[in-house]
Amino acid sequence: MWEYDVITCTGRSATSADHDGNCTWNTEPIPFGADWKAAYRSAGARVHAHVLIRNANTGKSAITFKSIAGGGLCETCAQERGPAYDMVGIGLRYVGPACLESFYQDACGRAKAMGQYRPDPYRPAIAKADAER
Ligand SMILES: [Zn+2]
Ligand SMILES: [Zn+2]
Repeated sequence: MWEYDVITCTGRSATSADHDGNCTWNTEPIPFGADWKAAYRSAGARVHAHVLIRNANTGKSAITFKSIAGGGLCETCAQERGPAYDMVGIGLRYVGPACLESFYQDACGRAKAMGQYRPDPYRPAIAKADAER
């Protein structure tokens, strides 16, 4: 069972340079329980917010969404923003929509070449959470 908290930055500036390392975080997180979609929506609507996922059994946690308007900086192209996805064989990676689509098309291409079914579309961070439950 994984739980999702949203932690918000007290800064109001919409300029990402104003959020470089010196942010003050609101110590009172907003709990969303298991509703990860609502947590991502809420964080994405704020200037600067993190989604913290926490395993209720082990206490293990990870930040899977960093918004300065819309997610974490894509670790592939560093252009777009999006949530962290669990990429098979790689682990958690922040990926924007366009790169996610190209990862998925690659995976479909490999599956087709090996005569396998299309893989399920990637879902934000939840796949890892499910696997470790
Ligand atoms: Zn901030
Ligand atoms: Zn990208």
